[in-house]
Amino acid sequence: MRYELMLPHQIRKAIAENWPVALPLGVLEYHGEHMAVGMDTLAVVKTLELFEKERDVVILPPFYYGAASYAVAPPEGSGSVQVGGTALAPFGEELFYSLLRIGFRNIHAIIHHQTENFAAGMPTDLAFKTAGRQAIFRFLEKERGEGWWGSQAMAAYYAEHAEGSNFFNWVQVHPLMSADMKYPFDHAGIGETSLMLALCPEAVDAAHFGDNKSWYTASAPEASAELGQKGVAMIMDHLRAILRI
Ligand SMILES: [Zn+2]
Repeated sequence: MRYELMLPHQIRKAIAENWPVALPLGVLEYHGEHMAVGMDTLAVVKTLELFEKERDVVILPPFYYGAASYAVAPPEGSGSVQVGGTALAPFGEELFYSLLRIGFRNIHAIIHHQTENFAAGMPTDLAFKTAGRQAIFRFLEKERGEGWWGSQAMAAYYAEHAEGSNFFNWVQVHPLMSADMKYPFDHAGIGETSLMLALCPEAVDAAHFGDNKSWYTASAPEASAELGQKGVAMIMDHLRAILRI
């Protein structure tokens, strides 16, 4: 369900049943002359919309204003929007803290931008990872008081942790495409262009392939909706694995 359309009784049901709550996290960034600047975020939004057809999930309004950086192109006339990680982390903390206050304990931000470096982290995902950790500590200290972890009530912490229960799983950040996915990972090349042809064809205009001059768009004209559908199938399997009740 789309969070903005949910009624309070539906929100309470989602909390009681521990539905996953997904935040599409992304950027607005130059993706060549042939593709829309929202590509990285649209890929998350559109695959979550497919996921919503088969599973119970709360989809939060997408956050498009991540740290695109100007690594690909300067902003003038290109459309890239850059909000740095140091500004994002406080925003993310407030957002996650508020979601914890509402009662959600199964929160997942999903990002596609720059995720070839997800293990080490890049500014947007690192900011939201930090935000999640900060929000959880703050929430637990508010709910249970300082010293909550050291209290006798937590004596089974390590045993429960080993069994998989962990407060710090309440807020997680995931790449849209896992590192082992056999799909061409690129920026505005055949991989991303094919994903958009499959998910959101209005974000691609083949009439502008010829206007591209950059190395990273050289393979874009080879894109196809068929290849994109293969990527979508892999992403759907990944979402089924990470967004569980
Ligand atoms: Zn991209």
